[in-house]
Amino acid sequence: MDTCARCGAVSGTPCEELFQRLLALDHSRQEPWGPLHGVAVACYRLQHPASLAEGTHAFPLELLRTHVEDGAEASRKLTERARRANSHRVRRREHGAPAAPRTNVPSGFTFTVAEVAVDGGFPAEGHTERVRAWAEATLAAWSA
Ligand SMILES: [Zn+2]
Repeated sequence: MDTCARCGAVSGTPCEELFQRLLALDHSRQEPWGPLHGVAVACYRLQHPASLAEGTHAFPLELLRTHVEDGAEASRKLTERARRANSHRVRRREHGAPAAPRTNVPSGFTFTVAEVAVDGGFPAEGHTERVRAWAEATLAAWSA
């Protein structure tokens, strides 16, 4: 068993490998994984912020807040809207002031990708609830 230095997960499988498995399920576009793809990516990136470019944590945090407060349908719509607006966002960032890098990036979350994976296979039963717990734990740490 190894402990992830970034999210604090204790697992026999590295987080990155678990995440790749989850992405494969997401991309199958099947329930319950497919519709939660945007939220899962946001959770993973915010729990492994070394893979998060400076200033890009604002959108994933907004997405998780929407998911926890307004539900899965609202976060799905927000993901869709962001995808469509993506080219405009990139352009705006080029001309705007660079976002201040965040120095106090949280680590050691109470619910991680290892808990979502359960046995490493991301079982369908309870997946929606586990992703919600993942989102809540991520938000709580980033809001602290
Ligand atoms: Zn990790």
